[in-house]
Amino acid sequence: VTLGALQRHALASGLEFAVDLTARDTATVGGMTATNAGGVHVIRYGGMRAQVTGVEAVLPTGDIVSRLSGLLKDNSGYDLPGLLCGSEGTLAVITRVRVRLVPHLRHRVTALLALPSTDAAMTVIARLRARLSSLEAAEITFRRELELVIEHTGLPRPFADVPAVCLLVECAAHQDPTEDLADAIAACPEVIDTAVASDSAGRDRLWSWRESHSETVQRLGIPHKLDVTLPLGRLAAFEADVRRCIAGIDPRTTVVMWGHVGDGNLHVNFVGRPADDETVDDAVLALVAEHGGSISAEHGIGRAKRRWLPLTRSPADLSAMVAVRRAFDPDGLLNPSVLL
Ligand SMILES: Cc1cc2nc3c(=O)[nH]c(=O)nc-3n(C[C@H](O)[C@H](O)[C@H](O)COP(=O)(O)OP(=O)(O)OC[C@H]3O[C@@H](n4cnc5c(N)ncnc54)[C@H](O)[C@@H]3O)c2cc1C
Repeated sequence: VTLGALQRHALASGLEFAVDLTARDTATVGGMTATNAGGVHVIRYGGMRAQVTGVEAVLPTGDIVSRLSGLLKDNSGYDLPGLLCGSEGTLAVITRVRVRLVPHLRHRVTALLALPSTDAAMTVIARLRARLSSLEAAEITFRRELELVIEHTGLPRPFADVPAVCLLVECAAHQDPTEDLADAIAACPEVIDTAVASDSAGRDRLWSWRESHSETVQRLGIPHKLDVTLPLGRLAAFEADVRRCIAGIDPRTTVVMWGHVGDGNLHVNFVGRPADDETVDDAVLALVAEHGGSISAEHGIGRAKRRWLPLTRSPADLSAMVAVRRAFDPDGLLNPSVLL
C-alpha cells in the first residue's frame, strides 16, 4: 500500500492520514513504518511512530507477531509496534499496519514569509507555534539555494528581492484559519514580506519553491545527502557553522540546504565532491554531534550512515541495540549490513 493509496482511501471516509511526504506515490506503509518516516506534518501530528497503533510482523524464526487490536490503552509488556517503527527491516518483516487517522480539515492556508535571517525564522516559528493550534507545516529555504532553484527550474522569484530566508507555513482547520494566521504574522516584526494563498493552485505555487529543492540538487550533480536534526535553539548556529565549515574544506562545493524547520530537521546536501570522498560528511556530522543533534532525522541509518552512529549514540546505547537485534535475529538473516 503506497502512502498515496492510503491517503485516498482515508479521504473517501472524510479522514486523513497525518504523515505526508513528496515520495507519496512510491513510499509504502511498510517501508514508512520500517524507517519511521517523518515528512511535512510532524510539527502537528508527529511521525510514523505516532500514527502506528498496531502491527503484524513475521519474525526471522517464521513466527508471526500480531498486535492489531487497536486498543487505545494496552500496557501489557514491551511496545513491539513502537520498536519495529524505525527498525529498518532488521528485526522483522512488517506485513500489516494499523494506523490512526485524523479529521479531514477542509480549510487550509499557506503563507511564504520573507525573513532577514535564520535566527529571525526561529523566533517567528516559536511565536506562530504558541498562537496557532492549526499550524501544520513550517519549512525553511535559504537565499543561495532559492536562487539555484529559480535558475534551474525557471520558477519566478517569490519576492522582488530574494530574502536571506523564506519560511513556508501552512495552517489547516475546520474553519478558515486565514485570519488567525494573518494576526499571528502581524505580531512578528521580523517578517519583511508575505505571500498568502488559500486556493489549491495558489498553495501549490507557494510550495513549488520548497519542493523543487530536491530536483535542483539532482540537476547540479551527484549529491552527498545528509538528513539531520538539531535542537531548535541551535539550528541557526549550526546552519552558519555548516556553511563556514564546508567553504573551509572546499570553497567550490555547492551546498543545498532546506528543512522541516519546525522539527529542527535540516536536509544538508552538497555537490562537487567526489562520490567516495567523505571528508565533508565527516565534518558536518561532527558538527551535528557538537550541537547536540542527531545524524539521522527521518531517513534512517541504512548502510551509508552506519559508521557515524557512535557520534551520537553511547557505547551502552549501541550495546543495548545490538542485544535487541540479536534477540530477534540471532543468525543475522534480516538486512544484515543495515543499521548496526
Ligand atoms: C522525493 C522523496 C522525498 C522524501 N521525503 C521524505 C520526507 O519528507 N520525510 C521522510 O521521512 N522521508 C522522506 N523520503 C524517504 C521516504 O520516507 C522513504 O522512501 C520511505 O519511508 C520508505 O518507504 P519505501 O516503501 O520506499 O521503503 P524502502 O526504501 O523500500 O525501504 C526502506 C527500508 O525499510 C525496509 N522495509 C521496507 N518495507 C519493509 C517491511 N514491510 N518490513 C520491514 N522492513 C521494511 C527496507 O528493507 C529498507 O531498509 C523521501 C523520499 C523521496 C524519494
